[in-house]
Amino acid sequence: MRGAILYGPRDVRFEERADPKIIRSTDAIIRISVTCVCGSDLWPYRGIQMTTEPTPMGHEYCGVVEEVGSAVTSIKPGQFVIGSFFASDNTCPNCQAGYQSSCQHKELVGGGQAPLLRVPLADGTLVATPGVPPDDLIPSLLALSDVMGTGWFAADAANVKPGKSVAVVGDGAVGLLGVLSAKQMGAGRIIGMSRHESRQKLAREFGATDIVTERGDEGVARIKELTDGIGADAVLECVGTQESMMQAIRSTRPGGSVGYVGVPHGVELKGEELFFTHVRLHGGPAPVRRFLPELIDLVWNGKINPGRVFDLTLPLDQVAEGYRAMDERRAIKTLLRP
Ligand SMILES: [Zn+2]
Ligand SMILES: [Zn+2]
Repeated sequence: MRGAILYGPRDVRFEERADPKIIRSTDAIIRISVTCVCGSDLWPYRGIQMTTEPTPMGHEYCGVVEEVGSAVTSIKPGQFVIGSFFASDNTCPNCQAGYQSSCQHKELVGGGQAPLLRVPLADGTLVATPGVPPDDLIPSLLALSDVMGTGWFAADAANVKPGKSVAVVGDGAVGLLGVLSAKQMGAGRIIGMSRHESRQKLAREFGATDIVTERGDEGVARIKELTDGIGADAVLECVGTQESMMQAIRSTRPGGSVGYVGVPHGVELKGEELFFTHVRLHGGPAPVRRFLPELIDLVWNGKINPGRVFDLTLPLDQVAEGYRAMDERRAIKTLLRP
């Protein structure tokens, strides 16, 4: 088969790779229906966190089970399944506590920008849909594999509750789906922070009641203006820079919470400032597996349509253009069809 391989900064190639095989008895092989490029794929693509050897790319996936190992009992060939970027057994204490992305046996899933993918710990990792989905649901089901689950976790970690005020820092796919999650959880005022017209529009469609274009101190001041001068009850940090993290913390009211899901790059927090904010911080790599059953149900029943974040669809062999378009912010998120 052929799949996406990153060779170096801005050098993604679509090349011949060996078909994945069952290695352990707990593995499954799935035939990818659709896959996509993640915002986090752009870090190594831009040469930040670069690996030294050519790396098969892609960790967001859904598709039909082709083959399972001899120890797999709940997942069967022919099922349409979705899994997270971390394979997890879903049985250890961390999984039972709802933190499958800290599973004691977690394994990163990689190489999903290809027609076939090996998923370790298939019973714990994969969740089957109620049946074979109609084509129009597939992009939204794919979004559950990471971005939607991550936006949902940001809202969950920020303790979004009905009627509460929410601010979302970041207008990438995760931030936009953070808005959708807050809306679904019943938030009152939802403030999206964005300077891009097309993203502002989607944020409003997803439930944002206000858009703030200012950043830094001005951005904080705007959010306080919109929240009776005290800051938002819940703030979702969906970027991962020093600026975005401080934006989030300073936009939160005393006693409020920040849910942070942007992978930090060079973020440092000063203990003294943090101490006097009275803000709760919770975040990390999203335990997407925890939310999959509920989110599949919401998509299946037409309650949410997170697939709207895909504004560019390409055949998988044009994966390099998919990265370029996201890198240059011409696309929010690229869907790839094998
Ligand atoms: Zn991702
Ligand atoms: Zn576990």
